[in-house]
Amino acid sequence: NPLQGAQFVLAAHRLGQLPADRGAEVAFAGRSNAGKSSALNALAGHKGLARTSKTPGRTQQMVVFALPPLAQGEGRPPLEARLVDLPGYGYAEVPAELREHWKREIDAYLHRRGSLRGVVLIVDIRHPPKPFDRMMLDFCAATALPCHVLLTKADKVARGQAAAALEALRRGMREDGVPGTAQVFSSTAGTGVEEARERIAELLRT
Ligand code: GDP
Repeated sequence: NPLQGAQFVLAAHRLGQLPADRGAEVAFAGRSNAGKSSALNALAGHKGLARTSKTPGRTQQMVVFALPPLAQGEGRPPLEARLVDLPGYGYAEVPAELREHWKREIDAYLHRRGSLRGVVLIVDIRHPPKPFDRMMLDFCAATALPCHVLLTKADKVARGQAAAALEALRRGMREDGVPGTAQVFSSTAGTGVEEARERIAELLRT
C-alpha cells in the first residue's frame, strides 16, 4: 500500500501555512459527512489518521499528511508525497462568510499549487453531485486538474444502483469536460480500496 504510513503534518487555515510547494500532493475534497475522513483512513490503513467524528473546528482547516517517499523507478530519486484534506463546507451550518473564505482559498489552492497532481472527490453514492461537488468538478475542468471521484458508502445501496450511479457520474464528467476517473467505494466494506490507492499513487507520480 503506497499510502501506508501517512502521518499528520499540520493543519492550515490559509494557503501560506502549507508546507513548501515541492514534490507531489493529492487533495481530498467532499461535502461534510460524505465519508471523506473514513475514506482517508481506509486508504492509509490507519483508523485514527483523519477524525471521523463530528469535530466542527477540524473541518475548517486544510490538514496535511506526509506519505513515505514514493519510489519512482530506476535512476530517479524517491518522490516527496503528501495528501491534503480540504475543508468540506457544503452544508448549511457553516456561516456564509466562512464558506466564502474557503471557496476563495480552495480556488487559489487548485489554481496555484504547483505540486498538486490531482483531486480525490468523495461523493455519497446515494446522492447525485450537489453544488459543492459540482463546484469542485468545475474547478478541475477549469484548471485541467485530474479528478478521481470515489462514490462512497456503496455498501448502502444495491449493486445495480451503484453501477447506475457510476455510469451517470462518468457521463456527466465527460459531458462537462472534467478530466478524470470515478469508481465505486466503501470504507466500511473495503470496496475499491486497492483500486483507489493505485489511482492516487499514479496521480502522485504524474
Ligand atoms: P466526513 O465528514 O466526510 O469526513 O465523513 P466521515 O468519514 O466522518 O463519515 C460520516 C458518516 O458516514 C460516519 O457516521 C461514518 O461512519 C459513515 N460512513 C463513512 N464511510 C462509510 C461507508 O463507506 N459506509 C457506511 N455504511 N458508512 C460510512
